[in-house]
Amino acid sequence: MSGFTGVDYYEVEGLLSEEERMMRDLARAFTDEQILPGIARHFREGTFPTGLVRKLGELGFLGANLQGYGCAGINNVAYGLILQELERGDSGVRSFASVQGSLVMYPIYTFGSEAQKQRWLPRLATGEAVGCFGLTEPDFGSDPGNMAAKAVRVGSEYVLNGTKLWITNGSIADVAVVWAKLDGVIRGFLVEKGMPGFTARDIHGKHSMRASVTSELSFQDCRIPADNLLPKSEGLRSPLSCLNQARYGIAWGAVGAAVACYQAALTYSRQRIQFGKPIASFQLVQQKLVHMLTEITKAQLLCLQLGRLKDAGRLRHTQVSLAKRNNVAAALEIARLARDIHGASGIVDEYPVIRHLLNLESVFTYEGTHDIHTLILGRDITGISALE
Ligand SMILES: Cc1cc2nc3c(=O)[nH]c(=O)nc-3n(C[C@H](O)[C@H](O)[C@H](O)COP(=O)(O)OP(=O)(O)OC[C@H]3O[C@@H](n4cnc5c(N)ncnc54)[C@H](O)[C@@H]3O)c2cc1C
Repeated sequence: MSGFTGVDYYEVEGLLSEEERMMRDLARAFTDEQILPGIARHFREGTFPTGLVRKLGELGFLGANLQGYGCAGINNVAYGLILQELERGDSGVRSFASVQGSLVMYPIYTFGSEAQKQRWLPRLATGEAVGCFGLTEPDFGSDPGNMAAKAVRVGSEYVLNGTKLWITNGSIADVAVVWAKLDGVIRGFLVEKGMPGFTARDIHGKHSMRASVTSELSFQDCRIPADNLLPKSEGLRSPLSCLNQARYGIAWGAVGAAVACYQAALTYSRQRIQFGKPIASFQLVQQKLVHMLTEITKAQLLCLQLGRLKDAGRLRHTQVSLAKRNNVAAALEIARLARDIHGASGIVDEYPVIRHLLNLESVFTYEGTHDIHTLILGRDITGISALE
């Protein structure tokens, strides 16, 4: 069993079902036994722990909230708890699971043909196949609706041209869900590894998400069979609905990174002696720890109600924006405070805080930047768009 017992100041545990607790404990043990022992080395070397992929699949963690096709079919709260535990390990590992489940399996499940679902979902669920999601382009990040990628129908094929940037899992993916304009309308295409005209190149020099693969995808007259169009995809709302699924998981995941930082800071502050006393005995340090715990507790409650609304089929995308925006910003602040409490020791990878802090800078930006979610919420409550 796991050595980590959790941070639960408000007895949120008591609001979970038996199944939800069981999945949480499974993911908790996985993080302690499979992620944490090697993650600092992967982060230092800039490598993704590929050995984890099949293990994530074996435990049913990939696309776990989807039904059928080899997916675990658990509820959204249990799914969120899994992602929370994975991100307690590392945001890069949680990103892998989010992309595979929410950005690859979900669009195939929602917009795909029966043949596409049969072909890909069981293999993606076991981790036998890996997927990536190509929406962002060099010139279109927060504004994907203006994307330049284009597809043209030529006989029994589509010919794809364009570039996708910052793509998680890009070079290790067997299948890429790529968004491009066909007759001016955004559609999803399944581009398989090795298809002529498709290349993936890794982005180097990252100081964040070092234990995750981030790539550039290039399509130069890339020919894909007509059957590889996702038939039910139509317009920007299709990729945005995938992002909404992924953001839901990020809202949960960020709490895991925050908990890791809080726990490290609490432990360190009790052990570190300055002026003849543990630094935990100083009021200013206690104030920081209390602030961290308060923000974690608020974020945990936000996640749980978000999950309950999703399971009840009543979740609005703006509610997901609120949770992603709040929880990631809180986690980033907590990581910074934890780094501060560790003093100089906070900058080395002997402790997990600098790794989480650097990772969270990416999480703050991807899946809709913090400010884009502010504007989405601002539009929702005022009825006036300040977004464009
Ligand atoms: C590690 C990592 C992994 C990623 N993985 C993927 C992936 O798998 N697939 C994928 O498609 N993408 C991925 N992305 C890309 C990510 O989604 C984009 O970085 C994000 O959408 C922001 O786009 P941008 O970086 O081009 O920033 P920009 O859109 O250029 O934004 C720059 C700044 O301008 C601000 N800004 C932009 N528009 C407005 C506005 N209207 N009002 C006010 N401020 C504004 C932003 O908030 C931000 O502060 C990943 C990114 C990272 C860092």
